[in-house]
Amino acid sequence: MKAVQYRQVGHTPEVVEVPLPEPGPGQVLLKVAAAGLCHSDLAVMGWPEEQFPYALPMTLGHEGAGTVAALGAGVTDVAEGEAVAVYGPWGCGRCAKCAEGKENCCPHAGGLGIVPPGLGRPGALAEYLLVDSPRHLVRLNGLDPVQAAPLTDAGLTPYHAIRRSLPKLLPGSTAVVIGVGGLGHLAVQLLRALTPARVIALDTVEEKLKLAREVGAHEALLSDSEAAARIRELTGGTGAEVVLDFVGAEGTLTVAAASVAVEGDVTVVGLGGGTLAVGFGGGLPFEVSASFPYWGSRTELMEVIELARQGLVSSHVETFTLEQAPEAYERLHAGDINGRAVILPHA
Ligand code: NAD
Ligand code: ZN
Repeated sequence: MKAVQYRQVGHTPEVVEVPLPEPGPGQVLLKVAAAGLCHSDLAVMGWPEEQFPYALPMTLGHEGAGTVAALGAGVTDVAEGEAVAVYGPWGCGRCAKCAEGKENCCPHAGGLGIVPPGLGRPGALAEYLLVDSPRHLVRLNGLDPVQAAPLTDAGLTPYHAIRRSLPKLLPGSTAVVIGVGGLGHLAVQLLRALTPARVIALDTVEEKLKLAREVGAHEALLSDSEAAARIRELTGGTGAEVVLDFVGAEGTLTVAAASVAVEGDVTVVGLGGGTLAVGFGGGLPFEVSASFPYWGSRTELMEVIELARQGLVSSHVETFTLEQAPEAYERLHAGDINGRAVILPHA
């Protein structure tokens, strides 16, 4: 089968032929209908050789949806032909966190060598994907897999990030979304679907600001040195109750710190490498809570898929064939994808 692999540190990904995997006991083979490209893949492909944690070559793709193609021995929980989305942050499956569905917080996964597809083991940018347990598969119940694939990360991660702040997103409150890309454009919609908050979106690219407005942002502002002052002005001086930073660079974190309200939340989702000083004298208003969430829980993925089924959120996608994946990554790198790039391996 064909797969898109990162083969050598510092090189661009390549479309190659690899053996079709066979499901072993307990495993499920998925025919991939759609796989999303995440900016985190670019971060991974930017890591230097001496720090690179995964074995190469590695098939990329940690956002996948498709149909069950074959079952390993003993698998009875899913049926061949069932349409599903893949939950990515696999845990041990046995600890208290995993029992709660919070496999993204499993403290044992790392030690057991359990890694997500596309981030250490073969991922969804291939014709077929091997999934270790039917536990990782969430039913689509009629949702289009092209819609569903981005929801497994670009939808799930902001959903999880927003959920912690729901008690603060009351009528009259403001939420700021910094970076309206794959994750950010879904964050705007999730905020609108789940809260009465006013949503202010920030980006550096006019196209993205246009998309932000189209998907429900009340205000869409250029992310520049004036942004924090504009947010203060729009909130009558108090600042935003919640700031979600999908860039996470030094500059955007400075904006986040300067625009959050007393008792507000700053949530850093982007891997931009910036850090935020938390503590007295650090520059944040009193009582601010800061967090850097990782992906989301299995139940949260079910909830995001349900929101999409109800038409309350939808992925704005540009689709590509598997052969076009390297070019799609290049465009993502250049900031030239609006919404999410989704690969259709069987197109
Ligand atoms: P993306 O490339 O689709 O979107 C990034 C957006 O940020 C683009 O619209 C870009 O124009 C905008 N941007 C860049 N610099 C900016 C600035 N200074 N101010 C405002 N906007 C700016 O990326 P994505 O796939 O949505 O991922 C967003 C980030 O989230 C990445 O850093 C990614 O690695 C990270 N991520 C984290 C998790 C997690 O679990 N924490 C999960 C998925 C992705
Ligand atoms: Zn991702």
